[in-house]
Parts: sequence; structure tokens; C-alpha cells
Amino acid sequence: MLTTAEATQAIAESMPSYESERVDYTSATGKILRQSVNAERDQPPFDRVMMDGIAVRFASLISGTHQFVIQGTQHAGDPVQTLTEDTNCIEIMTGGVLPQGSDCVIPVERISVEGNIATVEEGYQTERRRFVHAQGSDHRKGQEVLQTGTRISPMDIAIIASCGLESVLVGRQPVVRVISTGNELIAPGQPVAEHQIRMSNGPALVSMLSQQGFTNTAHDHLVDEPALLKKHIANHLQEADVLILSGGVSMGKADFVPQVLADLGVKVVFHKISQRPGKPMWFGNGPDKQVVFALPGNPVSALVCCRQYVLPALLQATGRNDAPQEFVVLSEAITFNPPLTCFLPVRVSSLADGKISATAVPTNTSGDFAALSGTDGYVELPKEQNDFAAGSIVRLHRWSSP
Ligand code: AMP
Ligand code: MG
Repeated sequence: MLTTAEATQAIAESMPSYESERVDYTSATGKILRQSVNAERDQPPFDRVMMDGIAVRFASLISGTHQFVIQGTQHAGDPVQTLTEDTNCIEIMTGGVLPQGSDCVIPVERISVEGNIATVEEGYQTERRRFVHAQGSDHRKGQEVLQTGTRISPMDIAIIASCGLESVLVGRQPVVRVISTGNELIAPGQPVAEHQIRMSNGPALVSMLSQQGFTNTAHDHLVDEPALLKKHIANHLQEADVLILSGGVSMGKADFVPQVLADLGVKVVFHKISQRPGKPMWFGNGPDKQVVFALPGNPVSALVCCRQYVLPALLQATGRNDAPQEFVVLSEAITFNPPLTCFLPVRVSSLADGKISATAVPTNTSGDFAALSGTDGYVELPKEQNDFAAGSIVRLHRWSSP
């Protein structure tokens, strides 16, 4: 049986690297950037006016001039004008170019205007280049502003647009099939008998994937019948890069998934990880570079295994840089005796000292998924240790940031 670290490593080594594809920048949000983005121009591209007001020569103010003749008006987007006299000013608007021959902006709130004369408020103090956002002070032309491997955020869309790019290279989305196995499973909307249960894993797994930008997904339900499983899983292997199964990987009499996958030429990389929940997880490689994650059917196990192993692997294969690790302080003592890594669902809150505290939200069993609602993620309690005192520092895995 592999440790959690060995399982992570084995998956990482088995994952292909999906190709890059070019997408319009307006549909790049959430994708993984596969190129660096460099500044098209200095930012700001010119000395940019930061206030509506007037542009003057600072030296004139210093020498006691308080009244200026308004020589003209320059809006944002207008070509730059030139201030011709020490006693003149140019009316300027936020976002415009600082007029040539001027070096100080006085906000409109600090002046009064009568006719074509602007008078500066009595006692107004300022300095040279006040309210001027200097050319190139954010970054210089050619400077790398986005790194390859970045998850593209709305802020990054602004940067891409500011560099004048209409399209960018991103990691291709893998084609994913989520397959729920089990005779007992009934979809929402269908009548459910007393001995049956609702099929909840598949939709939750699809939702977890879509939250991370993997939307090229479809869900299928298969009953526990080896010939049918074989036929349908064979089809899915033909069509998909990634199969995520739930159920059928334990030791029960209807747990046919490992055998069916082996029959289809999917080579087992590992079966079972020394962890709770999720110990029965199975992982293998298809004949054509497909990867197959067969997760236990217990809902808490399936969700933890998807967050812990599937999502990081897909993000890695799509080209994402390593994500930073997060650590939290346990708010209460916890004892966990089995010689397994424990993934314990928690709620987190910020402490006054800036640290983050985690409080366990115990699940009744690994089937008690209703308890997961409102949790932020789960903490990882290493298997070598049984007792974790209040105040212990442990690793947090947030549901939302694999
Ligand atoms: P299995 O791993 O197939 O033995 O399933 C373990 C437990 O999880 C059983 O109680 C199943 O009914 C339940 N289960 C399996 N698949 C699902 C699913 N897709 N949605 C909800 N519960 C499931
Ligand atoms: Mg089952």
C-alpha cells in the first residue's frame, strides 16, 4: 500500500502533458497560461495625469504666481499640448498626457475659475510632479508581466489586454468522463425505492472539475455488471483523456472495476493508499496515454480523493506552476490512532495574530457528506503521529484551491 506522498508522486510521473492551444483572450479566464506575456509599452506609456485639474509649471507657483491664464483644454485621449508661458495653465483630465512644458497638476477642487483665469486656493502647498503617474513607473516595455504556468485571473485578463494581445496560448483542456458505478444509484428526478440511494458523487465531481476550469466533461452511470462495464468503459477510453470512476473498487462482490480496467489494457499504477478516507483508491494508465482514477464510492472519500489527487494532477498536466502550500493551527486537540494519513474536514477562521485556525467538522462516516457543506477543506494529519495537541501546525487543503 502506497503512502499519500508516494501516490501523489506516482500519479505525477504517469500524467501526460496536454498540448497548448490558442484561445481568444476574452475566453481565457481560469485557463493555464502557456506562454509568457511581455509589456507592449511602458506602463503608463506616458507621464499620465492623475487628477482632473490644471497643469502648470511648479517654478511659477514657487515664485508666487497664483493666477494662471487658461491656454487650452486637453482631455484623456487628446494629443499632448505644450504650455507656452510661465503664467499659463492647461485644463487637463485624469488619464491624459502631462502637457509638455508643465510639471505639476493642481486638482480642480483646489482652484476657482472665472472666465479664462484659474486661481489657486490660498496657501495651497504642492511639489514638482504632484499627481503625475510617471511613464514606465509600473513596468517597462518588454518586461515579463505574466509567467507561463499562471492560472489566468480577471486581473490577468486586464494585463493581457493592456499588452495588446488578442489571443494567448493556454493548456488544452483534457476530455474527462466521470462514471458513477452502482446498481443502487438513482439520479435526481427519478423515483427512488427504499433500498436505493441518490446518485450524488458524479454531479459533485463534475462540479469540482468545472470549478477548476475543466468543463470538457460528461457524466455516465453504469450498473455493476462486468460485461456492461467493460463495453461502456471501453467506449469512454476511446473518447477521453481522463476517466474518473466512483465506486466498485473495494473488496465487495460487486466491485468489478479493477478487473474490468485490467481486461481493457489499463495498467494499474497503484491500488490503495494508506489514508482515511479514500483508502481503496485505484489509479492506472490506459493503452493510449489515458489516465484512470477509480475513486471509492463513499461520498466523502470520492470528494477528498478528487480534490487531493485528481485536480492537482489535471492542473499539472495542463501546465500550471506549483501551488503554494498552506498551513493552519488546530483549534482543538485531535487523536487519530489508525496507522493512516487522516484527511479531516475543517472550517477555518483568522486569528488576531494573522494565523489561520482550523476546527474539525467530523463526519459521521465516510458516507456523511452533508457534514461537508460549509467546510473550507481538510487538514492532513501525518500517519506517523496519533496525537495532535491544540495549537499544532498542520497542512490545509482547501476544496477550492487544489
Ligand atoms: P462502493 O465503493 O461502490 O462500494 O460504494 C461505497 C458506498 O458509497 C455505498 O454505500 C454506495 O452506495 C455509495 N456510493 C457509491 N457511488 C455513489 C454515488 N455515485 N453517489 C452516492 N453514493 C455512492
Ligand atoms: Mg458500488
